[in-house]
Amino acid sequence: MKSTDLIIIGAGPGGYETAIAAAKAGIETVLIEADELGGTCLNEGCIPTKCLCRSAELLDNVRETEKFGIGVDNVSLSLPKVMQRKDEVVGQLKAGVDGLLRSPKITLVRGKAHFVEAHTVAVGEETYTASNIIIATGSESKFLPVTGVDSPGVITSREMLELQEVPRRLCVIGGGVIGLEFASIFQSFGSEVTVVEYAKEVLPAFDRDIAKRLRTALKHRGITFHVGAAVNGIHAADGAYSVTFDAAGKEGSVTADLVLMAVGRAPRVQGLELDAAGISYSRRGIEVDAHMQTNVPGVYAIGDVNGLCPLAHAATAQGRVVLSRILGLAEAPDLTIVPAAVFTVPEVATVGLTEEQAAAQKIECKAHKAFYRANGKSLAMGSTDGIVKILTNEEEQVIGAHIMGAHAADLIHELALAMQMGAKLSQIRTLIHAHPSLSEIIHEAAL
Ligand code: FAD
Repeated sequence: MKSTDLIIIGAGPGGYETAIAAAKAGIETVLIEADELGGTCLNEGCIPTKCLCRSAELLDNVRETEKFGIGVDNVSLSLPKVMQRKDEVVGQLKAGVDGLLRSPKITLVRGKAHFVEAHTVAVGEETYTASNIIIATGSESKFLPVTGVDSPGVITSREMLELQEVPRRLCVIGGGVIGLEFASIFQSFGSEVTVVEYAKEVLPAFDRDIAKRLRTALKHRGITFHVGAAVNGIHAADGAYSVTFDAAGKEGSVTADLVLMAVGRAPRVQGLELDAAGISYSRRGIEVDAHMQTNVPGVYAIGDVNGLCPLAHAATAQGRVVLSRILGLAEAPDLTIVPAAVFTVPEVATVGLTEEQAAAQKIECKAHKAFYRANGKSLAMGSTDGIVKILTNEEEQVIGAHIMGAHAADLIHELALAMQMGAKLSQIRTLIHAHPSLSEIIHEAAL
């Protein structure tokens, strides 16, 4: 049995970032990875999808060039080349992670880990023991329990990232972040896209107003939506698939050549033998306290596997929280403020409370709005569809912010910082914003 200071299971953005930070702090770390370095984020999540988003954006831009007085003929798309570029970007980043993990303090073990007892983990024939263990095994795609989900044309986000041909008709089951990103990308690539969502509105966890605006914007781009629709089966029909659903008591159906199952992700706990270590978990994930510690002292769970916040930066931040605790540091990331983005066209970004959450918590809140269409930079860019919405409490402090529009994912951080600093709207108002810039829309909302 090999003894070390820290064992980390899983080398996604939770695991590998924590291993690098731990090594820098002088902690002997064993990092165990069953598959590729970088986890879901790097291999089949954030980075590859954003490569596709960029190809889609360029394609849209070229199609729009006429309105900018530029003529471009023969616009074409080669999906194999798009995928090749995506693979190159992923490969480059993976090489970077591999380099960062080459530290004398890190032992990288390749293989699938499982618990033998609370502080002992096995990989193949070898066992490792440490006083601190971090589980960072991520999540995997869920499937609806309906007939036909095992058909070859029903795929997950993972297989979408390997397609070599654009499907003529794509049905996306699930109008959450992943479903909408693929819907937006493949609509730009030329697919006829239909989204079927069980909830009454897409992006169920987001501000209702923003979610509705996004659906409207995507509808204008040509995507068809069925909301409040419960899928009850997928049937092969004439070389294609028929996705049937029940919406307000009425049967509906969508015919598609490819069906993307995007109904959420489940914590990856299978095979970890958590019971052998006495670690509590439920269907939602491994149960943790505010320090990400499980019910077993010294055993932590970070990232998607604890089900708290399925985002790459949240996984990394949670790892930092654990490390701060192990090292006894006073400084740790603030896990209460986590910005999130949806890379559709237009983009959406959010931080803090939604209007609905503020109402449920009986917080008196005021919404301050400004629109992209009145902003000089967005008119010059030709991206006028969008809104900035800032929510403040009775003391005029920022308690939430929601943006739909170009560069929303970058703009949101001014408001996240305002929240973290307990800033008042007047402080955004009195801050000079550069002209012409999209950040002026935030200023306008504060005015
Ligand atoms: P993961 O990244 O899933 O890594 C877990 C690692 O653990 C894997 O490498 C796995 O092989 C390994 N592992 C599992 N079990 C074992 C075992 N028993 N032994 C050894 N190793 C094991 N998030 C964002 O913030 N922004 C985005 O734009 C974004 N886009 C996404 C797009 C898609 C299509 C998907 C699917 C996800 C996206 N996400 C995005 C979510 C993001 O990818 C995850 O939140 C993030 O990867 C979670 O990190 P993690 O470290 O918890 O787990």
